[in-house]
Amino acid sequence: MRILVTGGAGFIGSEFVRSVLSTDSESRITVLDNFTYSGVEENLAPVAHHPGYACVRGDICDVETVDAVMSGHDAVVHFAAESHVDRSIDGAAPFVRTNVMGTQVLLDAARRHGVGRFVHVSTDEVYGSIGTGSWTEESPLDPNSPYAASKAGSDLLALACHRTHGLDVVVTRCSNNYGSHQFPEKVVPLFTTHLLEGKRVPLYGDGGNVRDWLHVSDHCHAIELVLRGGRAGEVYHIGGGSEITNKELTGMLLEATGHGWDMVRQVPDRKGHDRRYSLDITKIQRELGYRPQISFADGLAATVDWYRDNRAWWEPLKSRAALS
Ligand code: NAD
Repeated sequence: MRILVTGGAGFIGSEFVRSVLSTDSESRITVLDNFTYSGVEENLAPVAHHPGYACVRGDICDVETVDAVMSGHDAVVHFAAESHVDRSIDGAAPFVRTNVMGTQVLLDAARRHGVGRFVHVSTDEVYGSIGTGSWTEESPLDPNSPYAASKAGSDLLALACHRTHGLDVVVTRCSNNYGSHQFPEKVVPLFTTHLLEGKRVPLYGDGGNVRDWLHVSDHCHAIELVLRGGRAGEVYHIGGGSEITNKELTGMLLEATGHGWDMVRQVPDRKGHDRRYSLDITKIQRELGYRPQISFADGLAATVDWYRDNRAWWEPLKSRAALS
């Protein structure tokens, strides 16, 4: 299969590229990425000389670039996005441009070139917040942050492209990912690297917000299942079954780095902060045999070890982004 992977230099996209090329000798991958602040060339270094790998530096909003790159691919796996909620609160425009406009440009090009499958990678955040129980794939979208609203818009455009034009689209909605190579502005790498540097970590509000955590490699295996076996026009949830509060997560990271609660400073809550996310993952388990393989405790320990051993990866990113 010849796969076009957008956003392949980012956290999840690069894991997908490394994983597919190391396990499937039949696949060929082209990465399309314009290397924003979160796209890191080094993430793709392990596959740089792989015969099945190519990389195009380009913007998914650029019609001509996308048109030229799309040709000759059987499938698209679309990760490229502006992905950080806090940045979307500071300024929503880049989120609308990349997440909404960029997705439409890709869908149009995929149609023109007769692409056989388009996997649109999305998030549980499109549903808003849930007090009890879990969302199914039929739950209404009710996003609260500009990031989530832009992802909801792109999900709907992708599904509309299937219904209107018959493009073979599948949408995945996943819970919070963690693992190696995650840009150090997100909570797990931010807290881990701060603690490794001996800096205090900023915990939002009362720390009671609940998130479900999934190791990035489990997410990527699920995307492969959906790519190969998902039904056209369907949405699939991907989750880890590891719901914990941000305060519990902080406690685990303090323990893993040998620190106490004096290293935590409480900061005012994020605007519009969703209280809890929870996905029902029965559909993907039943239809595609998905099972997450990595327990949160093991995965988090390995992740902390990775950041401890790879300071040369994150230190320049952190200082460039002035993360404090
Ligand atoms: P990331 O920020 O690490 O990576 C995004 C990548 O997209 C970067 O390489 C960046 O350079 C590229 N990109 C951004 N704008 C682009 C543009 N206009 N043209 C081409 N490339 C562009 O994000 P991530 O955490 O790897 O997330 C990937 C996808 O997964 C996103 O669509 C996100 O919404 C979704 N998702 C993420 C999570 C999570 O926990 N991180 C959970 C569920 C879903």
